[in-house]
Amino acid sequence: MSVRVVARIRPLLKNELDKDTIVTTDEADSGKAIPTVLRIPNPKNEAESFRFQFNAVYDQDATQQQIFDSEVSSTVKHLFKGFDTCVFAYGVTGTGKTHTMRGGKSLADRGVIPRLLSNIYRRSRKIEKDSGGATQVEVSMSYYEIYCDRVYDLFEAPEKRTPSGLPIRDNGGKTVVVGLSEKPCSTLKEFEQLYDQANINRSTSATKLNAHSSRSHAILCVKVTQTTEDKVLVSRASAIDLAGSEDNRRTDNNKERLIESSAINKSLFVLAQCVEAISKKQNRIPYRESKMTRILSLGQNNGLTLMILNLAPVRSYHLDTLSSLNFANRTKKIEVAEVENEPQYRNIVKPLGATASIGGATIARQ
Ligand code: ADP
Ligand code: MG
Repeated sequence: MSVRVVARIRPLLKNELDKDTIVTTDEADSGKAIPTVLRIPNPKNEAESFRFQFNAVYDQDATQQQIFDSEVSSTVKHLFKGFDTCVFAYGVTGTGKTHTMRGGKSLADRGVIPRLLSNIYRRSRKIEKDSGGATQVEVSMSYYEIYCDRVYDLFEAPEKRTPSGLPIRDNGGKTVVVGLSEKPCSTLKEFEQLYDQANINRSTSATKLNAHSSRSHAILCVKVTQTTEDKVLVSRASAIDLAGSEDNRRTDNNKERLIESSAINKSLFVLAQCVEAISKKQNRIPYRESKMTRILSLGQNNGLTLMILNLAPVRSYHLDTLSSLNFANRTKKIEVAEVENEPQYRNIVKPLGATASIGGATIARQ
């Protein structure tokens, strides 16, 4: 199973209406329900264009609902079968990552994350009802950001943070953040309250530090626990809004921002190296060289993985757009293992024929 890679081209913003659109879906491909090829001019010779193929390409008019329905809703079924899922947004600052993942306040504007939770709750209620109450589903979440290679709990107010951040550790093949809070949330309303407050915590630090939020990776992890009389099945859905992938060497960095951006560039640079190493089937994947790549460990233990490549259609992003297209092009070659979580048996006497469950560990199957 490979990482599914889809591109989303955002519409022109109000202040861009007089600008040229240079990133489009390919006309030759337009007969398809969802196009798969996009086209962008060669910056060295505009008469020529480059074509990139992905699993799907969403043009400027794609709605939030369309993205969710065609790309994410099917993963919920897998999640409830015990598989881990992961969706992440990659792209330059200003291309629509946060819009895609979080979205706006109105129902139509809601992004992937609130829609995912809404689906999870709907399915939970259905499972509980269909089982006549024999299966109980609990949902909890943790939400944190990685900024300058430090991990901060987004449920903690910025002024209460330990400046050095939370440590991370390997636990049975999974990377865990030590001391991260996990909040139970049994309804969409509860989820939204927690999520909104955490996003305020993220943007409060943004006003203190220059454009902080576009320079941090925000990682939401939703844990679904299904409990019956004799079994407990835990699976996780991760949703990640990565820091902007622009090359900060091209912008006017002052010293402080240079330190910051080298840490951000480093994690995205290490991610690119990991992707390169995996796609070339090298033995050594440099995951451990940044916290973000350790946590993401693409191709190791994320399960069903979707990458949404966000793109701005205008010329001012041309070179950065090309570099994210090249990154995405390599990413689509990555094979990910399905992570099927084995149920934990609650009784000491196991039912006949059941496989032994390994204490909290997950079994990865190719
Ligand atoms: P990023 O998180 O990648 O920096 P944002 O999500 O903040 O980018 O998007 C930048 C701007 O573009 C925001 O004003 C956002 O509302 C707008 N935007 C992005 N994608 C869309 C879209 N599909 N439809 C309408 N507006 C969008
Ligand atoms: Mg953003």
